[in-house]
Amino acid sequence: MIIGLTGGIGSGKSTVARAFETLGAASVDADDVAREIVLPGEPALLAIKNRFGDQVIHQDGTLNRAALRAIIFKDPEQRRWLESVTHPKIRERLLQHLAQLKTQGAPYVLLVSPLLFESGQNALVNRAVVVDVPQALQLSRTQQRDGVSESQVHAILAAQLSREQRLAQADDVIDNSGDHRSMMEQVVRLDQRYRQLLND
Ligand code: ADP
Repeated sequence: MIIGLTGGIGSGKSTVARAFETLGAASVDADDVAREIVLPGEPALLAIKNRFGDQVIHQDGTLNRAALRAIIFKDPEQRRWLESVTHPKIRERLLQHLAQLKTQGAPYVLLVSPLLFESGQNALVNRAVVVDVPQALQLSRTQQRDGVSESQVHAILAAQLSREQRLAQADDVIDNSGDHRSMMEQVVRLDQRYRQLLND
């Protein structure tokens, strides 16, 4: 069974995923995979270099993410092109990771992805759990974690689904507006539920 775990930036996805892991779940992070498929030698990096030139490549051959971000934030067409190249590769690599994890004996696998619904990755999962916090808390936790400005967080929020749109597609919701203990109690309940579903 594959459980999609999503939520806006700073909602607590990584924290919640670690909590599930302490109970025996395995997880794969879509952000890690998105970085993997543009490592030097990967076809997606070559395609990006061919389109945008050396300005998006560091001296050591790795992707200059800041330069690429600057281009695609200004130009939706370039952004669509980039997604048309990267999304299929991310999906393919995610499937490989998920297949590998299935053989390792975890009762269920979490696919942790900030853009689970936006990217269509939800097609790969049996259920989706949304980590939910009010936007003010999302902003303050992200700023505290990353040391970024409020306007930078707002720019990222603008590219993600709204809280309501995400919740509308959730099978399960974790309210992460409380402390770690309250979060853990909800994770324990859901873990039991998922194990029960496997036995049904
Ligand atoms: P995401 O992976 O969704 O971006 P993180 O798991 O990194 O979010 O959480 C964002 C920040 O909020 C981190 O610094 C994390 O330690 C903190 N955090 C997460 N859950 C809680 C909580 N229940 N109480 C207090 N801080 C939390």
